[in-house]
Amino acid sequence: MLLILDLDTPNNLVEVIENKIREMKCVPHRLPGAQRLAIGITGNKSGISDDIFLSMKGVKEVHRISKPFKLVSREMKSEDTVIEVRGRKIGGKEFAYMAGPCSVESRDQIMQTAEFVANQGAKYLRGGAFKPRTSPYAFQGLKEEGLKLLREAGDQFNLVVVTELKDTDTFEMVEAYTDIIQIGARNMQNFSLLERIGKSNKPIMLKRGLSATIEDLLMSAEYIAASGNHNIILCERGIRTFETYTRNTLDLNAVPVIKKLSHLPVVVDPSHGIGLWDGVTAMARAGIAVGADGLIIEVHPDPANALSDGPQSLKFKTFAKLTEQIKKLADVMERPI
Ligand code: PEP
Ligand code: MN
Repeated sequence: MLLILDLDTPNNLVEVIENKIREMKCVPHRLPGAQRLAIGITGNKSGISDDIFLSMKGVKEVHRISKPFKLVSREMKSEDTVIEVRGRKIGGKEFAYMAGPCSVESRDQIMQTAEFVANQGAKYLRGGAFKPRTSPYAFQGLKEEGLKLLREAGDQFNLVVVTELKDTDTFEMVEAYTDIIQIGARNMQNFSLLERIGKSNKPIMLKRGLSATIEDLLMSAEYIAASGNHNIILCERGIRTFETYTRNTLDLNAVPVIKKLSHLPVVVDPSHGIGLWDGVTAMARAGIAVGADGLIIEVHPDPANALSDGPQSLKFKTFAKLTEQIKKLADVMERPI
C-alpha cells in the first residue's frame, strides 16, 4: 500500500500516520522523492481498508501495489532512484563505469590496474577480497589484506570501491573498507545476509543469481529495502542456460524489463555474462545501448596468470579500446561517464 501526502505535511502529522500504521501491525517506510511525500506500507496481511487512511489529515491518495515486490516497484515510486556515493551518482544521467580485477591479488596488481582504469576514465574500482569459488581448493581471496589494498588504491586514484561481501561474519570488516557492497550471484537469496545489509546504509550492488528470474532478483532487493536500506543497485550478470559456448547467457532483456518494473538502477556485467574476454566488448556495447545505468568490467594486467576469471578478463590494451567505444556510445545515449 502507498500513501501520498501533501508535500507540506508537517513532520508531527507524518508521525501520527506512521504510528497508526504500526498500530495496525504494519511497517511504514518513508520514501524519499523530490516531487512528493510518500509512505509505503508493508506487512498488510489483513486487508486494511483505504478509508482508514483517506480519513486522516494530510493523506491525499491511497494506492494498492499489485506486485509482490513493493518498495522496489515502480508502482511505489515512479521516478528513478539515484544513488549518491562519494560525489558520484548512479541511476541518474551519469553513466557508472566500473572496472578492476576479479580478485585483488597483490599490491602491485591492484595499484597498476586502478591507475590504468582511472586514467581511462573509470570512476569505480572493483576487486574481490572474499571470493566465493566453485572449488574449495581455488584461490579464496586475500581477505582483509585485499580490502586494505583496495581501499588504498581507491583513495590514491579517487575511485569508488566496490567489493563483495560473502557472509554475515565479515560484514563489519567489509563495510569499513568499501563504498559499495557487492552481493554475488551465489548469495542473491542468502536472506540473512540480505537482512543484515538492509540494516546498513551503504549502497548495495545486488547481482542476479545464476538461475534467478527477474522477479526473484526484485524479491531479494525487496528484502534489503524492507530492512531499511533503499540504496540498491541491481546487476545483470548472466544466467545459466543450455548454451555451452559461453559461461552464462547475458540476459539483456532484463534491463528494459527491470526498468519498467522497478525504480532501481541497473548495471550490466558483460564479463561474467559471456565469460570470454573476446566477447566482452560486444556485450558491453550492447549493455550501454540497452539502457543500463552502468557497466562493470573485469580487467587484469596479466589475464593469463590471473588467480580467478582470467579467461574473461581484459588486458589493458583491450580495455582501452573498449573504453574508446563506450565513450562514443555514452555520448549517443546522453549518459556522460
Ligand atoms: C565477481 O564479481 O567476481 C563474481 C564472483 O560475480 P558473480 O557473483 O556474478 O559470479
Ligand atoms: Mn569474477
